[in-house]
Amino acid sequence: METKKTRNTEKQNLVKEILSKTKHTMSAEDIMNAMPLKVNKTTIYRILDRFAEKGEVHFVTGKNGKAYYALCNNCEGSHEIHNHIHFECQICKEVTCQPYTLSMPDLDGFTIQETQFLVIGICNKCKK
Ligand SMILES: [Zn+2]
Ligand SMILES: [Zn+2]
Ligand SMILES: [Zn+2]
Repeated sequence: METKKTRNTEKQNLVKEILSKTKHTMSAEDIMNAMPLKVNKTTIYRILDRFAEKGEVHFVTGKNGKAYYALCNNCEGSHEIHNHIHFECQICKEVTCQPYTLSMPDLDGFTIQETQFLVIGICNKCKK
């Protein structure tokens, strides 16, 4: 008998696999459409939230207000500080993690819980 728990684990693994295969970030909808089995969007969000809590996935909010998710590389202990830049292309709409970081100023002791850096423009692929 297939238990609910193993089915959930299967879905979680699929979400992680889909994210690991893509070079750009994905919205919950993109992930839902790439799933080989039918999973509703609420479940996808729940899985992504859990991964984000564990520091395995981070997200950036795009120009359209949608969240775009990507796997984290070295997030142990400092998941909230994602100081790498994200780039959103106005033409192909891809949102990518960029290997460039911005240093965070101190902000007079304010507590930083999350950072999102989004740069909007036209990517190299679309320039041609
Ligand atoms: Zn992270
Ligand atoms: Zn583009
Ligand atoms: Zn990123």
